[in-house]
Amino acid sequence: MRPPKSAMYRLPWSLNDNPIGWLEVTDKCNIYCRGCYRLNRYGHKTLDEIKNEIDYLQNWRNCDNISIAGGEPLIHPNILEIIRYIHDKGMKPLVLTNGVKLWDNKPFLQELKKAGVFGFTFHIDSEQNRPHWKGKTEEDLFALRLEYAKMVAEVGGMHVSFGSTIYPSNLDMVPRIVRWANQHIDLIHGLVFICFRGAPQDGKFNYTVEGKPVKVEVGYTAEDDHELHVTSADIYEKIKEANPNYEAVAYLGGTQTHDAVKWMLGVQFGVKGRMYGSLGVRGMEVVQTAYHMLRGSYLAYTKGNKLTKAALLLGPLDKKGIGKAHGNYWRDILRNPTRAFQQFYTQSIGVIQAPDILDDGRQDMCDSCPDMTFWNGKLVHSCRLDEWRLYGNYLQAQPVTQDIVPVSEIALAEGEQLPVEAK
Ligand code: SF4
Repeated sequence: MRPPKSAMYRLPWSLNDNPIGWLEVTDKCNIYCRGCYRLNRYGHKTLDEIKNEIDYLQNWRNCDNISIAGGEPLIHPNILEIIRYIHDKGMKPLVLTNGVKLWDNKPFLQELKKAGVFGFTFHIDSEQNRPHWKGKTEEDLFALRLEYAKMVAEVGGMHVSFGSTIYPSNLDMVPRIVRWANQHIDLIHGLVFICFRGAPQDGKFNYTVEGKPVKVEVGYTAEDDHELHVTSADIYEKIKEANPNYEAVAYLGGTQTHDAVKWMLGVQFGVKGRMYGSLGVRGMEVVQTAYHMLRGSYLAYTKGNKLTKAALLLGPLDKKGIGKAHGNYWRDILRNPTRAFQQFYTQSIGVIQAPDILDDGRQDMCDSCPDMTFWNGKLVHSCRLDEWRLYGNYLQAQPVTQDIVPVSEIALAEGEQLPVEAK
C-alpha cells in the first residue's frame, strides 16, 4: 500500500525540461553485478564523444545535474576532465559508482572534488560481485557504506547517497537500511531503492524487433518472473515500518498504466536516529517551482542536508508535511528537552520501479523518464540502451499464444541464425 496519486505531487519534469541528464562514459566495470543494465562490450567513450553528449543533454534536457554512469565511471581515464567540463558548464556532476576505485583512496576523492564533483550515489547491495564482500548480508554491508559516507564527509562539501537493487530476497531488509540511514542522517543525504526488473525468459513472451523474432542477449533478463514483482508500493510499506513518519510526496507514473508509481520520492526531517516527519505536497511544489524560477531548471539533488529549525515555521504553508513534523518535534522536545540542541537534517528516499512488461506485452516505462540518455542522435531510455546497441531499436514482447511459436521452437535451416545485432 502507498498513498494514492491524488495525495502526492506529480513532478513537473518532462522530456525537454528534466533536472537529470544521464551520461554513460563507459560500459566497462570493475565488478559485474546481477541485474546490471549494461553489457560489458564497447569500452570507454572518447572525451570528444562525451563532451558532445554533455552539450546535447544540456541543450535538449535543460539539466540541473548530469548523472555520470556506466559501467563504472570512475575507471574512465578522463573522468576528471569530464567532471570539470560538466561543472564549468554550470551543471552538477553526480557520479553513480560502486565505490571500488575509491576504497581507501582519499587522494583520488580529493582530486574528484577539486575537479568539481557534486557528489556520489554509491551502489552497494548484497547481490553484487564485490571483491572481499561477496555473500554478505545487507547488514554486513553497513560497515562498508559507513566507510564511504565518512570518507566523503571528511573531505566535505559533497552529496552522498546509497542505492540498492531490491529483490524478493532483500525486500525485508529495507526497514533495517532505512533505520541505519536515519541513524547516520548527519552523513547520508539520501537512499535510492530500485526494484529489480528484467525481461522474463520463462517462455511467456517472444521478443521481436521491428516484427522479427530475436534471441535476447541483453543483460537484464530473468529466468522466471517471480523476482519481478517487487513494486514501489511494497518498498513504501517497508520504509513506513522503519519510519512511520515517512511520507511519499512526489511521483512519476507509468506510460501505459494509470496507477503505477514508477518514481516515488520522500524527504524526511529529523535528528540523528529520530525522524519527525516528511516534506508535504505543498512544500515540494514550492521547492520545484521556486528553484525553476530562480535557476531555470527543476531540482533533483541537493548538497547540504542541514536544516535550520526556523524552517519548521513554514508549517502553515505545508500543513500535512512540515506542519506535522513541527508538532511531532515539539511533543518530543517536551519529553526530552536535550534534543533541542541536536542538529536538524533532511534525508531523501527515492524508489524506482523500472520497466514492467504487462501481460499483453506492452512495456510500462517511467513517464517523463529522468534517466534518458544519448544514443545515435536521439534520446533513449538508459535502462533499455542495450536494446538499441544490439538490435538498433527497442525489443517488443509478444505474449506466446497457441498461434505464435516460441522463439526457442522456431526451426532454423542449417546455417541460419536469428538476428542478434542490427549494426
Ligand atoms: S524508464 Fe527511465 S527512469 Fe525508468 S528505469 Fe528506465 S531509464 Fe530509469
